[in-house]
Amino acid sequence: MIPTLYKSALHPREVRALLSLKIKGQRFAVPKEPLNTLAMTLNDEDFCCAALSKVSRSFAVVIQQLSENLRNGVCVFYLVLRALDTIEDDMRFPQAEKLELLRNFYKKSYDEDFTLQNIGDQEDYRVLLAHYDKVIRFFKGLDKGYRDVIVDITKKMGNGMADFAEKEVVTIEDYNLYCHYVAGLVGIGLSELFSASGLESPGLKSQHDLSNSMGLFLQKTNIIRDYHEDLFSDRTFWPKEIWGKYADKLTFFTENPHAPKSLDCLNEMVMNALGHLPDVVDYLRLLKDKSIFRFAAIPQVMAIATLAAVFNNPKVFTGVVKVRKGLAARLILYDLSLDDTLKYFKKYSRVFLRKSPAGSELHKQLLAWSKTLDQKIKEG
Ligand code: MG
Repeated sequence: MIPTLYKSALHPREVRALLSLKIKGQRFAVPKEPLNTLAMTLNDEDFCCAALSKVSRSFAVVIQQLSENLRNGVCVFYLVLRALDTIEDDMRFPQAEKLELLRNFYKKSYDEDFTLQNIGDQEDYRVLLAHYDKVIRFFKGLDKGYRDVIVDITKKMGNGMADFAEKEVVTIEDYNLYCHYVAGLVGIGLSELFSASGLESPGLKSQHDLSNSMGLFLQKTNIIRDYHEDLFSDRTFWPKEIWGKYADKLTFFTENPHAPKSLDCLNEMVMNALGHLPDVVDYLRLLKDKSIFRFAAIPQVMAIATLAAVFNNPKVFTGVVKVRKGLAARLILYDLSLDDTLKYFKKYSRVFLRKSPAGSELHKQLLAWSKTLDQKIKEG
């Protein structure tokens, strides 16, 4: 806590937010006992809530803001997709069995005896899968509208992950398709859950392109930020169609973090991600329910803050660049409105312009992009 406070010291509102989040956070505190112990004592619902706060601290806090019915649906949706991702990411798992499991995972949705032992590269993920029967029982208590969405998205995502377990991300088209499977489908599924809750219009679930962009903007931000970490775990998601213009091997950038070619490549990756932001604005404008709005908008503001931090930053190639935790705390605690969100987008769009050399091709692209963004913002 102290080092985090220190980083936010020049931002007094963030210090206040961090402190009150710590107090408020106790209601949604991560349980101290290991998840394995909790599995023995907690009922299905409480286990699912505890698992959610263990496997995703920040997401668990945002989810708490949703109305109870929708919250349970989103909690199960997250845990099911976390299970799928755990299978995808376990590199010790024999390929043939992995593909079979990814493609058929959705068929287990109603099987109360289904658990998986010893899969996952983190203890909490392994425990989640070992006690997956609890997730299934909680799932079975959800409204049919929610259950159908969760099964459908699980089927599509599992098949997409299996396709990409066998091939690499090479072209920008591959990159968009992979991000669609692992994140765009989350955006599409969430819109369907929002419509099913009755809190948003029935038409929201048909906004596939905008919902997809919501997921792609977040996923591409993570892929850019995680360059270094992913490089050292057997998988890479940067498309060769982009990085191949600047280097012969993806490792060139970590070996030459300050080279102009490395930074140009990074900035092109960021520019590609920023292309989804106008859709994000259009999507957020469609939301009516305040709690759903905050749930949807907070990760998007965190993403643009992350992109601004990684833009033109050689540290991406040698470690992890993180956004101050105080910003997340502030966004979570204060009633983030559409206006506030758009102000954040404008503020960060100026950072990209400032950090790119005037007259460069990139600067021209950014100018055109920020013009489009400004128009979108004014439309409301
Ligand atoms: Mg994965």
